[in-house]
Amino acid sequence: IIEAGQPEHSVVTTCAYCGVGCAFTAEMQGTEVVRMTPYKDGKANHGHSCVKGRFAWGYATHKDRITKPMIRKQITDPWREVSWEEAIAYAASELKRIQATYGRDSIGGITSSRCTNEETFLVQKMIRAGFGNNNVDTCARVCHSPTGYGLGQTFGTSAGTQDFDSVDETDVIMVIGANPTDAHPVFASRMKRRLRQGARLIVADPRRIDLVKSAHIKADHHLPLKPGTNVAIVNAMAHVIVTEGLAADDYIRERCDLPEFSRWAAFIADPRHSPEAVESLTGVPAAEVRGAARLYATGGRAAIYYGLGVTEHSQGSTMVMGMANLAMLTGNIGRRGVGVNPLRGQNNVQGACDMGSFPHEFTGYRHVSDTNTRQLFEAMWGVPLSAEPGLRIPNMLDAAVEGTYKGIYIQGEDIAQSDPDVKHVTAGLAAMECVIVQDLFLNETASYAHVFLPGSSFLEKDGTFTNAERRISRVRRAIPPKAGYADWQVTMMLSEALGYKMGYTHPSEIMDEIARTTPTFKNVSYQRLEELGSVQWPCNDAAPEGTPIMHIDRFVRGQGRFMITEFVPTDERTGPRFPLVLTTGRILSQYNVGAQTRRTDNIAWHDEDLLEIHPSDAENRGIRDGEWVALHSRSGEISLRARISDRMQPGVVYTTFHHAETGANVVTTDYSDWATNCPEYKVTAVQVRRVNHL
Ligand code: SF4
Repeated sequence: IIEAGQPEHSVVTTCAYCGVGCAFTAEMQGTEVVRMTPYKDGKANHGHSCVKGRFAWGYATHKDRITKPMIRKQITDPWREVSWEEAIAYAASELKRIQATYGRDSIGGITSSRCTNEETFLVQKMIRAGFGNNNVDTCARVCHSPTGYGLGQTFGTSAGTQDFDSVDETDVIMVIGANPTDAHPVFASRMKRRLRQGARLIVADPRRIDLVKSAHIKADHHLPLKPGTNVAIVNAMAHVIVTEGLAADDYIRERCDLPEFSRWAAFIADPRHSPEAVESLTGVPAAEVRGAARLYATGGRAAIYYGLGVTEHSQGSTMVMGMANLAMLTGNIGRRGVGVNPLRGQNNVQGACDMGSFPHEFTGYRHVSDTNTRQLFEAMWGVPLSAEPGLRIPNMLDAAVEGTYKGIYIQGEDIAQSDPDVKHVTAGLAAMECVIVQDLFLNETASYAHVFLPGSSFLEKDGTFTNAERRISRVRRAIPPKAGYADWQVTMMLSEALGYKMGYTHPSEIMDEIARTTPTFKNVSYQRLEELGSVQWPCNDAAPEGTPIMHIDRFVRGQGRFMITEFVPTDERTGPRFPLVLTTGRILSQYNVGAQTRRTDNIAWHDEDLLEIHPSDAENRGIRDGEWVALHSRSGEISLRARISDRMQPGVVYTTFHHAETGANVVTTDYSDWATNCPEYKVTAVQVRRVNHL
């Protein structure tokens, strides 16, 4: 007799929430998970976990799970439960009808950063080979696409440069636009341990986040910049390093493109980039910027860790290049303890990007116009492939509103809640003739769907996730799929109903195909993952056990390339009607749109989105702590309760977007990064007023 809580057996798998990618043991009684405990040999977490991960298994068995496929002709009709056969046949016939009527490019799809590498690979394969176009995109579009562009331009690959263990050898930690305590808690603990050992700390963030000052930790420099001025700050730091003679000249001579460096050095030395010149623009005292620049350049091994406060701006890509410039300028790339490290939001956002989820790239970041790569896939997949980049998510929605894009397959994404300017998103979805949503729950996007295909949780399937340090880890099936099929099987069924056969019998076969077609994954296989536990790409003949540190002897692109990073202010402006700036983020106990965490015990710790507001802004508006306020912008209006906090700077308010009832993205703008269309979630001009909540 097994007592309650005593496991009969256990399965080692990977957390399905954030980009840290903690390994867990799912403890089982029969086919039920009874507990999840952090796996002591997990290389990303070394036996630690956070409150989100520990309770993650709860949503897998939540009563809201949809386990039967459903269809409806109109989105105003009630859902009708149908067999898998009928749902797949209906979805395929609708997609075929739309393409026959409106053309090959009138449909597309969105992959999920919460699904496995193998599943995202299959979705993009179905779209490229089955739909016959490149209209595939991923939620990385709205988070780290500028990382892909910026690091690609400067270093030659979008990969984060270090493993997490590297922080143990860092002397100066610079955190920019990230709040790891809330968003990447297990890595934040690693970082704090290093800080307690004596590493120095620079934080650039509009809010006084926990890292700035907490028990045993105090930042040497906090740069409380005005939202939207990141590039001016990073340029000012580089200006100080160049003009004060603190650059790593030998490193630059050996490792970087010298003509590009000379051009950039002349640009950055201009006095208009000095901390004094941009002080009123950024709101950061020049002395703090000078101090931070000197510490970063001379304090030993310096590592940058950054998050969505960098990327989700109209100059997200410029800022990523600015940080890369800073690292090359000081020789802080290519060894332990240094680097430029994106803290990825979702568990498999790195993997989704690696797996060819962008409309212009095959797996391994190879452009669709590259003839050799295209021929490789054409030979493997047996069909001609388009050399034309497809539509990005915002372009799909624009085209839908314009009437040329009519059908979409969305796996594991809730764009009607997570993407900016919700009115535009929902207008696009409502204009389509066939929206197919594959998810665990009837999410906001499903309100606009004609076909709902039940998804499978991470506990119900085999596969791999790739975390923020490029670590590929196994996801192992602990319980059978609640709806009968894992997500990869559903995509395969849809593809085959469309007439494009796939025929895999296990996700390991999909990984084998990825390895055969993707140089950075050449030596990755399930067998190798069993032997090594996990592996960091590139994993090839040159590095058969993976690559913890990138760019050691040379950059992926050869020589590092300094890029001109001119500061251009966002078009989103404050004024008399909208005098405050809203910026958004996350909280420890919740994960993204909350679809999962709101269905676990985590809900007990944070059950609503609050508006943080500085005491002076609250007082000016007669707002008391806990009162309901209306938050309105040029895009829309929402109501939520106020939390008065001196963590905020005057003129800036902050909220999270975990609850559909609040709908924070109703107010965010449709401005986006110039290079990648990553939305500018972090800067919205707003007004706040006290209201009586009904
Ligand atoms: Fe680890 Fe992130 Fe999961 Fe927390 S949410 S357990 S830090 S992977």
